[in-house]
Amino acid sequence: MDFFKENENDTWEKLRADCGRCMNCQLGRTRHNLVFGVGNEQADVMFVGEGPGEQEDLQGEPFVGPAGKLLDTMLELIDLDRSQVYIANIVKCRPPRNRDPLPDEQSACIGWLTRQIALVQPKILVFLGRIAAQVFIKPDFRITREHGQWFDVDGRRAMAMYHPSALLRDPSKRPETFVDLKTLQREIKDLHV
Ligand code: SF4
Repeated sequence: MDFFKENENDTWEKLRADCGRCMNCQLGRTRHNLVFGVGNEQADVMFVGEGPGEQEDLQGEPFVGPAGKLLDTMLELIDLDRSQVYIANIVKCRPPRNRDPLPDEQSACIGWLTRQIALVQPKILVFLGRIAAQVFIKPDFRITREHGQWFDVDGRRAMAMYHPSALLRDPSKRPETFVDLKTLQREIKDLHV
């Protein structure tokens, strides 16, 4: 898949309008708000999570609940903030009871995200959690073993780290994530982004 192919006819306005009325899967029927994405539309670093949670669904923004606060802290640790990155999810509507998005829901939704990636043209992709890494890096991606490692995704640098929700559930994973963040920070410096 060419996630980064630019389409000169696509624009953020068109994408927001097309995506905003999407009912391509069952998650559209139970959402309060579609959670499109947020951040710097010319960002060099793009974070991709799996789907909105309760607070995100209510507010229409990604990573605004407790996991979002932790993501902000993670960004601060490497001298980044939300104004410098773009943040989006694999699915734009909340899966009921925060279950994993089903394969058919991911397939129905992924086109919105690939259009976002094509518009942002990030140099570095960071996948938050197993689901996003399995979609973009490889289907058998093991987050416990392969977080923090660099992969090539369509010629771009890509890595996965634990999802902030997983770090809230299991704080013992935080030291490993700190190492991953420092790896990301070094890469940003090396790429002069
Ligand atoms: S999850 Fe994605 S595909 Fe499903 S209704 Fe929402 S925007 Fe459309």
